[in-house]
Amino acid sequence: MTKRKPIIVGNWKLNKTVGEAIELATAIKNVLGGLPGVEAGVAPPYTALGAVAKRIEGSQLLLAAQDCYFEESGAFTGQISAAMLADVGCGYVIVGHSERRQFFHEDDLTVNKKVKAVIGAGLKPILCVGEQLSEREAGTTFDVVGRQLVGGLEGVSEGDTEGLVVAYEPVWAIGTGKVATNGQAQEVHEFLRNKLRELCGDGVAEAIRIQYGGSVKPDNAAGLMAQPDIDGALVGGASLKAESFIGILRNSRQD
Ligand code: PEP
Repeated sequence: MTKRKPIIVGNWKLNKTVGEAIELATAIKNVLGGLPGVEAGVAPPYTALGAVAKRIEGSQLLLAAQDCYFEESGAFTGQISAAMLADVGCGYVIVGHSERRQFFHEDDLTVNKKVKAVIGAGLKPILCVGEQLSEREAGTTFDVVGRQLVGGLEGVSEGDTEGLVVAYEPVWAIGTGKVATNGQAQEVHEFLRNKLRELCGDGVAEAIRIQYGGSVKPDNAAGLMAQPDIDGALVGGASLKAESFIGILRNSRQD
């Protein structure tokens, strides 16, 4: 089959004022017309979503949120619902990022509720899975990512997986400069694709894009994207500067 079109999303985390976010989004938006072989998205902080949405309206640049809460409304101080993110113009929501799991104690049940809330609001989840270094060293990588994938998608029907993106992010490679080798990444992506086949059937599993995340840079993007089951990247540090993010886009294109 032809390779899935890669989707590269920049997770800006706790960075960028509204002005800085508009500037970066504009620079990315302006080059996309010349890069038909790749899809690009940005995940600014909540405070910049509305302004970035307005700036990129009508362009090919996708807008993602970094997280959401699973309740629709009510007395949940500080939280943002999936419907609010849809209202402001998001198309995707990152769910279950390892920093949410680590610093905010999110477990698979919480992640699953968020996945369902995102789908319920008509948005597409980017479901993150990934093992810690100790888990890789103990030989439990497949158990961990398999449990996170199955747990995150519990009760999600096959029809609701349209547009779902999975991000494999080995925790030991995030922000450390230690990228997984192409072979290490492909091995886990293939495992995840096979799990998706069991969960959603062959056709759906073939269509779902599985991103790699963990110290992706312009110079390692092409090798990763050449792997048969790697269909994009979730990018942290290198997404904060237009030059490096656009470099990743250029080196990931499949046209
Ligand atoms: C991330 O946080 O999702 C990530 C992949 O970060 P970095 O690219 O900085 O490793």
